[in-house]
Amino acid sequence: MSTFSLDPGADQLAVRDWLHGFAADVMRPAAAEWDEREETPWPIIQEAAKIGIYSLDFYAQQYFDPSGVGIPIAMEELFWGDAGLGLAIVGTTLAAVAVLANGTDEQIGTWAPQMFGTPEDVKVAAFCSSEPDAGSDVSALRTRAVYDEAKDEWVINGTKTWATNGGIAAVHVVVATVDPALGARGQASFVVPPGTPGLSQGQKFKKHGIRASHTAEVVLDSVRVPGSCLLGGKEKLDERLARAREGTRKGSGKNAAMATFEASRPAVGAQAIGIARAAYEVALDYAKTRVQFGRPIIDNQGVAFTLADMKTRIDASRLLVWRASWMAANNQPFTSAEGSMSKLYAGETAKWVTAQAMQILGGNGFTREYPVERMHRDSAIYSIFEGTSEIQRLVIARTISGLPIR
Ligand SMILES: Cc1cc2nc3c(=O)[nH]c(=O)nc-3n(C[C@H](O)[C@H](O)[C@H](O)COP(=O)(O)OP(=O)(O)OC[C@H]3O[C@@H](n4cnc5c(N)ncnc54)[C@H](O)[C@@H]3O)c2cc1C
Repeated sequence: MSTFSLDPGADQLAVRDWLHGFAADVMRPAAAEWDEREETPWPIIQEAAKIGIYSLDFYAQQYFDPSGVGIPIAMEELFWGDAGLGLAIVGTTLAAVAVLANGTDEQIGTWAPQMFGTPEDVKVAAFCSSEPDAGSDVSALRTRAVYDEAKDEWVINGTKTWATNGGIAAVHVVVATVDPALGARGQASFVVPPGTPGLSQGQKFKKHGIRASHTAEVVLDSVRVPGSCLLGGKEKLDERLARAREGTRKGSGKNAAMATFEASRPAVGAQAIGIARAAYEVALDYAKTRVQFGRPIIDNQGVAFTLADMKTRIDASRLLVWRASWMAANNQPFTSAEGSMSKLYAGETAKWVTAQAMQILGGNGFTREYPVERMHRDSAIYSIFEGTSEIQRLVIARTISGLPIR
């Protein structure tokens, strides 16, 4: 087990500084423009690819960092730069992690590189789970995958929604039900390779925040994928389905899925921290320089104490995120749903901190002349995606009580 340390090593600090430079020099100057354009910022993704920030190697290196804090440090720095551009850059990792968590070595080797493309020809990937009638309730998925034994192909039909990079991705990872009677335990994940007929983009959503990140419906109309695109393989799926039909809980998919969520949620919490830290810094600077009643506004406890609370909540969020990330990297059991806890607290903190920052900037905070207005809009997604705040509380409450709280 790697020792937990709050003092990142020289390598991690070097990565942080490198990402900080990219966030400050490339992302920040471009953030307002891409927010207004509400389009995928391909040139920024390409710049990130050229220097290795948008690459499988980079994320794999951070993902397998034994201390666990490689990913949170990277996420915080990029999202400090800008959340919309940040999500455009890291959205692919959602799909990559699904393949890493569920795929065979061969599937990882085949699909993960195609998700990123090359610096000359960058690609993105999409993870498609949510559906119009299955958001928080993932067991209600209707997208159906049926096995065509004669051809060793899976035929997928359904409509996905809210997919980050949906329709513009080279590789889509689609969660579908293979046995609806089994609910979440009857589901499997499939890779839909680039250019597969039958997959198309539906509506692209116009959003309140993170507008540089593409979010759309994905329609799957008799999409046929080779048997080899079932993540984990057919043998493993058949074993899992047989166990689920027998009703045995031993080795059930439930705990595995739960552990995956607990491990991935801190990374999303770290993104929220990046936004909160950025807004806090703007507000602190502003409070020191804005003069009203003949003194800087920070001279008023009403303003200074707010800044004290902002900083305290940001640091508390980071401690929760780092703890959960360390636990995930070291296979510690999440006995209190510490991953969900970290995402809940960091997400709510980002919303609260950015709202306070707007207040401290007064009228300026409400305009697009200053970035806190955008940061506030961007932060709002952090109590919604990757499990809403209510769902995080549900998971924590069930975990600490052992009761089926509804
Ligand atoms: C910008 C964006 C990007 C996204 N990216 C992806 C992606 O890449 N891939 C993907 O698969 N999905 C993605 N999502 C989907 C996201 O994960 C869902 O929006 C989220 O899970 C909530 O589902 P819902 O929107 O259907 O809300 P609902 O589940 O309908 O919830 C509505 C409200 O009811 C509350 N609620 C529901 N059930 C309970 C309960 N049991 N107890 C208490 N409260 C409850 C919720 O907390 C929420 O406040 C994205 C969403 C957005 C907006």
